Amino acid sequence: RQEVIKLSTGSKNLDTLLGGGLETQSITEFFGEFGSGKTQIMLQLAVNATLPKEQGGLESDVLIIDTENTFRPERIIQMAKAKNLDPDETLKRIHVARAYNAHHQILLAEKAADVAKEFPIKLLIVDSLTSHFRSEYVGRGSLAERQQLLNKHMHDLLKFGTIYNAVIAVTNQVSANPAVFFGDPMTPIGGNIVGHTATFRIYLRKAKAGKRIARLIDSPYLPEGEAVIMISEDGISD
Ligand code: ATP
Ligand code: MG
Repeated sequence: RQEVIKLSTGSKNLDTLLGGGLETQSITEFFGEFGSGKTQIMLQLAVNATLPKEQGGLESDVLIIDTENTFRPERIIQMAKAKNLDPDETLKRIHVARAYNAHHQILLAEKAADVAKEFPIKLLIVDSLTSHFRSEYVGRGSLAERQQLLNKHMHDLLKFGTIYNAVIAVTNQVSANPAVFFGDPMTPIGGNIVGHTATFRIYLRKAKAGKRIARLIDSPYLPEGEAVIMISEDGISD
């Protein structure tokens, strides 16, 4: 077994909550409503992964499976400049694959190993993990098939993380769950399948003035807790 490495989020508060950052050989899921900052965090992780290990990076390239067409090179350039990186060099290390539907998404994850043979990929991002599944498998009758496919997909991702000692970061939307009367009614899509395969789950909520609250949920060995993070022009910080 290879040694686990940790990837910084750009926020010390959030890194501390995660015991130092996102771990290789695990899946970390960020879930929350639209605009809660999931994609912003993915883009920041992509930039950070290229950094030296002393600076919280993985000294690696990045593969992003983009299902919602929300990858923005301009945003990578902003974040790279904020870290005094050469924006073009940073962009060259971030490989984006657009997934057109759920089956294509599954295929891209299966083919990630081919990309990793050519480039040193230690961060694999799927943004969003569930959007295609949610829109293509609608209604009770297709639930079993959706869950089975999501399960297979998650295990492919985890396998990649294990073989290549890579961080796997995924995003997930929430849906209002009418069955919950107490507490927070927002539940992540994919239910138990996603929940059991993701090692770390972080719930993002909007707060005032560019701030977000990140809550660690159901961690196997870290205490539950919250961290306040900031999204600004420069990216993610405390
Ligand atoms: P969705 O579920 O729709 O995909 P999301 O959780 O991925 O939503 P993001 O796209 O990450 O949400 O967040 C968008 C928010 O990030 C914006 O509303 C804004 O608050 C913030 N943001 C994006 N770009 C910048 C920037 N250049 N400077 C400051 N804040 C920004
Ligand atoms: Mg998004």
